[in-house]
Amino acid sequence: MVTPSTSASLFVGLGNMGRPMAINYSPGRELFVYDTNLAAAADVAMATNGTALPNLENIPPHIGTVILMLPTSRIVESVLRNDPGLFSQLAVGSLIIDMSSSDPESTTDLAAEAAELGIDFVDAPVSGGVSKADAGKLAIMAGGESTAVERAKSHLRNLGEDITHTGPAGTGHVAKALNNLLSATNLAAAAEILTIAATAGITPETMLEVINGSTGRSQATEFKYPRHILTGTFDSGFAMDLMVKDLRIARDLISRQSAEAPVVLTAQQTAEKARDLLESASPDHTEFARYYEKLNGSSLRAS
Ligand code: NAD
Repeated sequence: MVTPSTSASLFVGLGNMGRPMAINYSPGRELFVYDTNLAAAADVAMATNGTALPNLENIPPHIGTVILMLPTSRIVESVLRNDPGLFSQLAVGSLIIDMSSSDPESTTDLAAEAAELGIDFVDAPVSGGVSKADAGKLAIMAGGESTAVERAKSHLRNLGEDITHTGPAGTGHVAKALNNLLSATNLAAAAEILTIAATAGITPETMLEVINGSTGRSQATEFKYPRHILTGTFDSGFAMDLMVKDLRIARDLISRQSAEAPVVLTAQQTAEKARDLLESASPDHTEFARYYEKLNGSSLRAS
């Protein structure tokens, strides 16, 4: 029987977030990387002095830790459960950390399946976007058994400074979906206020200056609007489709609880409408503001 190595790790999913995270994770480790985009995997292997795997069908047997940074739970499930997937190949005593923004119900099932196989499972989604991923300063919310979370923390040190243990497996993903619902609500609410202010004769720059010195401020008004919206660049690196996915996860959670949440559920439905209206194939989530520009007939771009 193979003993999993504490320093041999596999990082799967090397997109906007996974690439900088894998690079920050690599020092002092024997790193294997995989992405269905083989060029992305080759690029990260080069940057980390690691090894790109051509597929996940025959992974090196001594890999002791797997980090996933994938778009959706369906993809996480396939990577783990495929025949042969990671569940059938990882040694007893291994650790899986799912850092994707996944669906907590799926996560709970996967964690139970992992436990039966003698594998630790931690959901550790992140907040802070590409800039914080680059800087290794992500906020991380971790769900799982205390011992597994402690074990995961030793892997997450270079990725984030701020790691909160949220409770059992799945709660990290609950916290992430709820945070993103609040964040999207702030993004939408600011677009409403800024477009109304513009029609009333106050430029978006001036109105942002007022808000950011006052009680209406949020991460959206302090960072997203000045950097990605007023500039017209819409280049945060977080796709609108991923935001809409997160908001659906939060909506389903609210619905299972039969909770009253009219404000945030309106933001969720508005995001769905905005996504339908935006013509580009893969809009950035900051283009949510463009929906309000069209709706209210005023521009938020700096003049
Ligand atoms: P991305 O689309 O840029 O990257 C996803 C990567 O996964 C791509 O490189 C893709 O080729 C790869 N992939 C898809 N299917 C695969 C498979 N079966 N096997 C291996 N690789 C596969 O997405 P991202 O922006 O990096 O986001 C990743 C996750 O992090 C998502 O769950 C997202 O919601 C979450 N997230 C993103 C941000 C952000 O700012 N971009 C912030 C926090 C959390």
